[in-house]
Amino acid sequence: MAETAPGAQQFIPPQADTLDELRVAATDCRGCELHRDATQTVFGRGDASARVVFVGEQPGDMEDQKGLPFVGPAGRLLRKAVDDAGLDPKHIYLTNAVKHFRFELRGKRRIHQTPDRVHITACRPWLVAEFAQLNPEVIVVLGATAAKALLGPTFRVTRQRGELLPWPAAAQHPEDFQRVPVDSAGATTDAPSAQLLATIHPSAVLRADNQDVAYDGLVADLTVVARALAG
Ligand code: SF4
Repeated sequence: MAETAPGAQQFIPPQADTLDELRVAATDCRGCELHRDATQTVFGRGDASARVVFVGEQPGDMEDQKGLPFVGPAGRLLRKAVDDAGLDPKHIYLTNAVKHFRFELRGKRRIHQTPDRVHITACRPWLVAEFAQLNPEVIVVLGATAAKALLGPTFRVTRQRGELLPWPAAAQHPEDFQRVPVDSAGATTDAPSAQLLATIHPSAVLRADNQDVAYDGLVADLTVVARALAG
């Protein structure tokens, strides 16, 4: 296990002013060792004008193969929960705190491994760079890894899930998220006030003893987001 990593910052083009430029640059990231065994970088997906940004943990096995976030079983469940909560999928940007799949091989099977702090820290510059191109009204943090990346190690999803918090004030380093773009020429302005809501990762629903209860809880949290957008 790596205890230090050079980090992604050096791979981010300083003049990048679109998500597509970032996506292309991220294909060459060597900011930590996870790129070595994974198939490809899995960058965020969605429109820069998305009203809601979902931040998950890391790509899974299927996402790693397809190069797209949330296309595996957890992603399917999330899409259903988004529908059931009344959120418009067209208004959503999906990304992960860590952009390469971390796994261990057991025979031929690739078993998910939770990213360590070193990976979350190394990959965080991509998340900050994505947010610099986005202007969401609500940020949804899915699970503990995303919470660590955005809100710091002391935030407990289980304690504060479903609660609307002020963004970027609730971030561990609000200064990283205070500027948003005003045009495609790279001009920025202070971020308008937005809100953040933490909930469980959809994969936690798939692992739950009582999946129905866990799913209803996820939908209830996302319904709070839908109401905030409507309000
Ligand atoms: S996990 Fe993030 S920091 Fe590490 S190599 Fe992949 S993109 Fe770069």
